[in-house]
Amino acid sequence: MGLYIGLDIGTTSTKAFVYDEKGEIRGGSQAAYPLLVPEAGRAEQRPDDLVEAVVDAIRGAVQDAKAKADDISAVGISAAMHSLMAVNDRGEPLTPVITWADNRSIGQVHALREGREAGRLYRATGTPVHPMSPLTKLLWLGNNQPELFKRAAKFVSFKEYLLHRLFGRYVVDVSIASATGMLDLNTLDWNESALHLTGVDPRRLGEIVPIDERLTGMDGGFAERMGLRRDTPWIVGASDGALANVGVGALARGETAVTIGTSGAVRTFADSPRTDGEARTFCYAFEPDRWLVGGPTNNGGIALRWYLEKFVIGEGESGDIKEQEALDRIVQMADSVPPGSEGLLFLPYLSGERAPYWNADARGTYFGATLHHGRAHFGRATMEGVLFAVRTVADALTGISGDSRSLLASGGFAKSEIWTQMLADLSGTQVVVPDTYEASAFGAAAVAMRADGAISKLEDLKDGIRILRTHEPDARRFKTYERYYSLFKQVYELLEPAFPAVAELQRGTGVNHEEESGGKK
Ligand code: ADP
Repeated sequence: MGLYIGLDIGTTSTKAFVYDEKGEIRGGSQAAYPLLVPEAGRAEQRPDDLVEAVVDAIRGAVQDAKAKADDISAVGISAAMHSLMAVNDRGEPLTPVITWADNRSIGQVHALREGREAGRLYRATGTPVHPMSPLTKLLWLGNNQPELFKRAAKFVSFKEYLLHRLFGRYVVDVSIASATGMLDLNTLDWNESALHLTGVDPRRLGEIVPIDERLTGMDGGFAERMGLRRDTPWIVGASDGALANVGVGALARGETAVTIGTSGAVRTFADSPRTDGEARTFCYAFEPDRWLVGGPTNNGGIALRWYLEKFVIGEGESGDIKEQEALDRIVQMADSVPPGSEGLLFLPYLSGERAPYWNADARGTYFGATLHHGRAHFGRATMEGVLFAVRTVADALTGISGDSRSLLASGGFAKSEIWTQMLADLSGTQVVVPDTYEASAFGAAAVAMRADGAISKLEDLKDGIRILRTHEPDARRFKTYERYYSLFKQVYELLEPAFPAVAELQRGTGVNHEEESGGKK
């Protein structure tokens, strides 16, 4: 039986896992690197740090699995979306890896939104016009580093750079390409307007390939260092978001993945490209009958951690108390309060917000506080607020891809039974918690297995995904939450005109909030 490697190149580390054909993990390894923030708004990585991490993670995983080079049938790759780097004609980097979190192109975003281009580009490419998008990063580079922009032979994502180092080819899977803001959803080729706007000739971009494209003939030095054969096929794979859906088994219509880690995302596969009339969600190509639609939110578990650190255990004390214990304690405390936190609502927009409002100026707000409310109420309201925000994204998706039959929960929040039951009650939808250790790596391995013929379709691995628990919504609690949810949306609408003023006041005080989102203007 062959073994398959799922490689997941993330923002803070690269992980590799070795799986057998049933999807059982045989070994794994992880290599971390820094996200460099030389000044506010920049978020970069050193290309060599990432390449070395890939080598280390794969070598470590092969060793951990006690596998020989001959045992490995194929490698599948998952990578973070939206990265951009410029390289010269010898393939040498002219820039660091500019990551999704880099905000320098906010001015270009505002300019596109003021004109009519933003809406047109979104409808054509499915990528929201936002500083995360390589399209706006290219505009920024053209404006701010014109010499470098002219000199660059190619503009590529980190995955393309890696594949060029390993195989001598700049190939970009359709899924990563689709998240550049440059790929046309209809033609699956580079979009004419995007090319015209950025002034980039298609020859300066990578070759677009399907997610199951095979690459063989790896550079001998790299193969030796990784402990792999030169002729072991690498399957180009897709983005980490799409592969996380594969990894949790959210493959069919009505199955929606809800990930809440530090930030959050709601994603589902549609069978054709679907964009949103109000540009609230993304739509990225994956394969001919699967298109990833969804929305990212900035304020996931970080909101609960913030509440915990600032108001429960006290600043500076967090080192004394184990985080898991502290989280468990606060969740227990919150559970003693009824749904709706007895009239206390929380808008969790501590770091501005991306989907569905795309408003960098939005801020956190507790609403309805009275003398009656105490720490437990605020704790519960915080947990509920994160989920209300997730529901606004899920609702935007419903309009595009239909109702969800079940929500597949992953990320740190899924460790808490109380929080996942709350999601079922608040959304009125069944919540399933799969045992998804490293969903994106598993999804990448699944694509590699299919390309190699070990499985015939991605669904074949679903039986191998163990379900930890299933939560059914409670009708009474759902009814209560419906009233709170209406109020939540109303409070957001009411506050929307006031957010820019408070954001401006905060800029004056030098408050260092994370401004991930682009601002609706
Ligand atoms: P990342 O996205 O950075 O990988 P994780 O997926 O580990 O982060 O999620 C971290 C978040 O998950 C924490 O900020 C916290 O809100 C939440 N979390 C983790 N463990 C628990 C728990 N036992 N109970 C409730 N929430 C938890």
